[in-house]
Amino acid sequence: MTENFSPIIGIDLGTSNSAVAWFAEGETKLITGAQEERLTPSVVGIDDEGHLLVGATAKARLVSHPHLTVASFKRYMGTGKTFTLGERQFRAEELSALILRKLKADAEVALGCAVTRAVITVPAYFNDSQRKAVKAAGQLAGLEVERLLNEPTAAALAYGLADSREQKFLIFDLGGGTFDVSIVDMFEGVIEVRASSGDAWLGGDDFTDAIRQWMVTHSPDLSIDEPQLSAELTLLAEKLKYQLSTQDIAKGHFTYQSQNICWELTNETFSEACSGLLSRLKKPVVQALQDAQFDVSQLDHVILVGGATRMPLVRQLVTRMFSRFPRNELNPDEVVALGAGVQAGLIAEDRALDDIVLTDVMPYSLGIEVARRDGNKIEDGYFTPLIERNAFVPVSVVQTFSTLNDNQRKIDISVYQGEARRVSDNLLLDSMSINIPPRKAGDVSVDVRFTYTLDGILEVECKVIGETTTSTMIVEKAPGTLSQEEIIERLKLLDGLKQHPRDVPANRQLLAEAAKRYEQTLGERRQIIDNYLVQLEQALNHQDLRAIAMARDELRQVLDQFDDGM
Ligand code: ADP
Ligand code: MG
Repeated sequence: MTENFSPIIGIDLGTSNSAVAWFAEGETKLITGAQEERLTPSVVGIDDEGHLLVGATAKARLVSHPHLTVASFKRYMGTGKTFTLGERQFRAEELSALILRKLKADAEVALGCAVTRAVITVPAYFNDSQRKAVKAAGQLAGLEVERLLNEPTAAALAYGLADSREQKFLIFDLGGGTFDVSIVDMFEGVIEVRASSGDAWLGGDDFTDAIRQWMVTHSPDLSIDEPQLSAELTLLAEKLKYQLSTQDIAKGHFTYQSQNICWELTNETFSEACSGLLSRLKKPVVQALQDAQFDVSQLDHVILVGGATRMPLVRQLVTRMFSRFPRNELNPDEVVALGAGVQAGLIAEDRALDDIVLTDVMPYSLGIEVARRDGNKIEDGYFTPLIERNAFVPVSVVQTFSTLNDNQRKIDISVYQGEARRVSDNLLLDSMSINIPPRKAGDVSVDVRFTYTLDGILEVECKVIGETTTSTMIVEKAPGTLSQEEIIERLKLLDGLKQHPRDVPANRQLLAEAAKRYEQTLGERRQIIDNYLVQLEQALNHQDLRAIAMARDELRQVLDQFDDGM
């Protein structure tokens, strides 16, 4: 360890539980807390003296002091909703920051040095404001967020580290209150999230609820209108649920109005009690496969993530659905943190991870408002996506737009996020207005370029064709969370990204080499080189990273092969 050693930690900031890992000696390791705990419940509270409680101590009071305890706040990241704890109001970002601070402190103890840099995971579907909120939480916790990493990508990293063969995974993530299905494709060290789907209101806690309801229907004497009793029953239901993960029969008892009530629950009865929940797990799986245009048979692995996949019922369902056993070598509630640890190692440029390149996909479409001409009528309010949902990130795309009116003096560029045809149903991110020379309708054209980074920052650049000036807008939904210096730093990153794949030196060199070889050869060989060259040129034109990688390899192989024969 050198004097200025500055480790990066990987954090899974979960709805129910959070965890922290780091990368050392060639592997990712979970960091445990002061009580040897591997998971930190994402729960914050205050005690009767007004002291803050974070994690397990707060969770223990969720039942006894519900008014002084807050859980499941991750759902409200980036919404501005506030939670009251004693005399103070907290935003979800601040509550998350308290969890992050605890994890940071645990890491500092374990690693024996200050920790100020982190990778934090987010659900793949998190939008711009939610991602910014996670970054803000990191800053509030005194952590520089080096990268936001999609949770499914993290899971794939934790599992896929060892080899770089082409593989397709389905990540089945059933947490406490959310269900996420993602399809991940690993290809020559490139990891892509091809599609994500899910149910934002389905998780392990609903299974606890199903048990609680079953308990109540089997004990008609219980009056569950009392909140305290209801909360205690929930705790007992959760205990039964955990028992059923390791044994076939779970037993629980409860004293109510000096009466002893006993329950005996088998996995079979549990399965009947939650059949509705189990069937809700199927639809997002079908949807994700459809979006990714994959068939079940093409999947190499199904990976279980989330504590609720410890339930045998869920495992059986998954096994039946995919006609194979899912992978579960890693603890499902630790996988995401472990993957974040891998990414942290990657950023720290640990040599063991040199070969893994990461790409992610856009969780939503980004575009601008356009007007359409219908005979003499001009109707505005239409959405034209420039970057589509599930496109690779980072990405830079340019599209040309023309004026619709004679002597138009300016063009308004309004940037929206969403999938609807009409902008009114999408989310307005920002807008700008640019001056144009007055000409006949259609005679003035503007190139609009959207550049989106791995950090989720969008830069919009407009250039009137024939003019030299460009107008630039950085879309930052939540200003104030980032300092000016950081924005400048990010701009530099953006500048590095803007290269068209055709202009990337390695691609340019290969194209030049192939062109030269074409000139040197004749006949069939010449034809073959031409075919592969066209394939690469087309892939470059489409800016499709995956197709580029494939075409590049094939062309390289052909050239090498012909080399040998010369
Ligand atoms: P999140 O990703 O939402 O933060 P986790 O992945 O930690 O959540 O999963 C939490 C859920 O997993 C809870 O509903 C919890 O009851 C459930 N869970 C954890 N361990 C078990 C187990 N052994 N058996 C059944 N359910 C479990
Ligand atoms: Mg999770």
